Amino acid sequence: MKCPVCSKQLVEFKAGSLALDICRDGCSGIWFDAAELDKCDEMTEHFPEELLRVNKNPNVVIDRSKIRQCPKCSVNMSRITLDTERRFEIDHCPSCAGQWLDNGELGRMRQVSKDNAEREANLAIFKKRINEQIQGNDARSRMTSFLKSVMY
Ligand SMILES: [Zn+2]
Ligand SMILES: [Zn+2]
Repeated sequence: MKCPVCSKQLVEFKAGSLALDICRDGCSGIWFDAAELDKCDEMTEHFPEELLRVNKNPNVVIDRSKIRQCPKCSVNMSRITLDTERRFEIDHCPSCAGQWLDNGELGRMRQVSKDNAEREANLAIFKKRINEQIQGNDARSRMTSFLKSVMY
């Protein structure tokens, strides 16, 4: 699969039973396909910290104004904005329900809440915005449980 941001070939990244695709030495984005999202609660117990340190090529510019195509099925992905400040935006494929995270987004999500109360509050906001922007209960609950597993 080719990276939807910089067209570099994605490489497989394994963590437990999860097999993700990462853009190593390119834009350092991360692709989660729907099947991997379904087992991402594994990350709650053993978060693969290496995912926060995928090497980025400093010459690659990430253009967030562009619509990206799904690396798997080539259809346009929808950008799901989780907060009003637009710090957290996930590219979601309406066809295969996979999702793309840009450089640094995963790390910021992990650090956005300082305690459980704040985490619950953030999750409630994110969940509301997911329900507004994503069609289909499966896709919604998949993204919500992904966020939970990253934030805890
Ligand atoms: Zn890339
Ligand atoms: Zn797709």
